Amino acid sequence: MDPIRIAVVGLGKIARDQHLPAIAGNAAFSLAATVSPHDPGREGVAHFASLGDLLYGGPAIDAVALCTPPQVRYDLAALALKRGVHVFLEKPPGATLSEVVALRERADKVGVTLFAAWHSRFAAGVAPARAWLAERTIQKVSIVWREDVRVWHPGQAWIWEPGGLGVFDPGINALSILTHILPRPVFLEDAALSIPENRAAPIAAELRFRDTAGADIHMDLDWRQTGPQSWNITVETDAGTLKLSSGGAVLTLPGGTEHNEDLEYPGLYSRFANLIRGGRSDVDIDPLRLVADAFLRGRRESVEPFND
Ligand code: NAP
Repeated sequence: MDPIRIAVVGLGKIARDQHLPAIAGNAAFSLAATVSPHDPGREGVAHFASLGDLLYGGPAIDAVALCTPPQVRYDLAALALKRGVHVFLEKPPGATLSEVVALRERADKVGVTLFAAWHSRFAAGVAPARAWLAERTIQKVSIVWREDVRVWHPGQAWIWEPGGLGVFDPGINALSILTHILPRPVFLEDAALSIPENRAAPIAAELRFRDTAGADIHMDLDWRQTGPQSWNITVETDAGTLKLSSGGAVLTLPGGTEHNEDLEYPGLYSRFANLIRGGRSDVDIDPLRLVADAFLRGRRESVEPFND
């Protein structure tokens, strides 16, 4: 079978760290081109300053991976779908819910694959956590997602703009895991968003959710964490406590702890290839909907200015 000719759009941090190596390591794909307005590209790979230049004047491609900030993703995805090209959307899949729904409808109509990727769902501990929790009664959940924004997002102006999500940019990873491992739907009860007075997006948030059986879910998001970082989800059940730590990579069950190799992006690209070969899409908007609910229902408090 011929490899899927893919272009990576937006050669920023995640494209360099994860997408390019994952594509290079998967024989189902061949890197046909890159697109980025201010990057010179990679030696030996056709490079374009805009997706339009590639789609209307470059080599033939079958798929694109959109690794740009979410605010520009809809127009890029719509353009690719118009040309019959399969689309991989980095998380979050868009800047609004309705644009993602519109893309999903468009992809179905055109008959190509749209994949809204949630990389944290491919962390090693997540699938076994989901299987273990399927048989349990959930009593209480605690999410602590605290990291240092200066370490992980230096100089990323877009992340503080409307649609950039602020601390929900990492926080939505926890929500993508939560909505995947809990057996029942979850909804927001109350949220407090702390927004620096010189920025448009929150630097911290405290949220309370409930599942449809009444289990209490507390979430603590903070970008002001220095020293040790925390990406932990703890679930108390009728059969003991489950803990996912290191962003889902490490799973602790009452019987012991499992550490496994990080295969998030290789897992995403295997899934994308399977979706394309099977003529299917995978667009789950649940994590983005919970974030939208937090912005809809959350109380906002102004906190001290943040400067990089
Ligand atoms: P980033 O370092 O700021 O990179 C984004 C890149 O997008 C920039 O390099 C920019 O290219 C490019 N870009 C902007 N507008 C474009 C357009 N219209 N066409 C083509 N390229 C465009 O951001 P990032 O950290 O990689 O994050 C990108 C996305 O991946 C975000 O949604 C984020 O949530 C997600 N993500 C990030 C991480 C992470 O660890 N950083 C992890 C998982 C997922 P130029 O520099 O050439 O202008």
